[in-house]
Amino acid sequence: MTQAQKILEELIRQAAPYTKEGRVADYIPALKEQDADDLAISIHFLDGRTCYAGSHMKRFTLQSVSKVITLALVLMDCGQEEVFSKVGMEPTGDPFNSIAKLETNKPSKPLNPMINAGALAVTSMIKGGTCSEKWERLIAFINHMTGDDVTYNREVAESELKTADLNRALCYFMKQHGVIDIDVEELLDLYTKQCAVEMNCMDLARIGAVFANDGVEPGSGRRIITKDTARICKTFMVTCGMYNRSGEFAIKVGIPAKSGVSGGVMGAVPGKCGIGLFGPSLDDVGNSVAGVKILEMLSSQYSWSIF
Ligand code: GLN
Repeated sequence: MTQAQKILEELIRQAAPYTKEGRVADYIPALKEQDADDLAISIHFLDGRTCYAGSHMKRFTLQSVSKVITLALVLMDCGQEEVFSKVGMEPTGDPFNSIAKLETNKPSKPLNPMINAGALAVTSMIKGGTCSEKWERLIAFINHMTGDDVTYNREVAESELKTADLNRALCYFMKQHGVIDIDVEELLDLYTKQCAVEMNCMDLARIGAVFANDGVEPGSGRRIITKDTARICKTFMVTCGMYNRSGEFAIKVGIPAKSGVSGGVMGAVPGKCGIGLFGPSLDDVGNSVAGVKILEMLSSQYSWSIF
């Protein structure tokens, strides 16, 4: 076992008790089946070294972590001007699925691409004549980043689609206000597939490393995302990536990161490494309790805060 591996094993050991403080998400019925005790981490350094600990082979669905990946694709597809004509750049301070500010914000558009409303609008903008073309492009892009052959979990996607009435309401509101212009059911089908894309924390760390490396894949030197797009995505990760706890997370951790209700967290430490975490026991806003603890410990031990 390498020294790095030992350090990660120790972090997992210290953070494991925190899994008892949260609960797995249950509003998507299929996510209820997750094991609250699971905890895993992988780090992909920009020089190509990787290390991992815990249940690192366990696959989980990306959920909201996917929002930052889709945003990268759409910024490159459509350009900043078009994207930000539909979605704002401001944190909301509200839960990720809130509908409230969609109406009170004028003009009526989602405040940012990390809340569900904004993410749905961004997903609708993926280039492609049909939603199946959009999906093919998105999954090819994700595979390009992981260097692996990942796909989506059909059961989780179908389970979410059946219970997605709040997201459905957000879509219809936005369609009325001209934020989205495609068929709502097709968009929801595409979005739930996007959220159900499944991988392990090593794949997620590799994606984090691309963001940390300004859009270039460590090792091969292949440019996957433009530098500007990587910068914008990391900025949203800091301001809105950890839901309505992004401010506290910025102070305590200070690493651009994005979480999802499956318990995944992707971190991108600029110029250093990508981090993939999985811990499905969530706090009250939907962030992995033990995952956040591990990031706090890592950040303070290695001075990884960007601030
Ligand atoms: N698929 C989930 C939803 O739209 C993603 C939410 C999340 O991870 N916060 O509700």
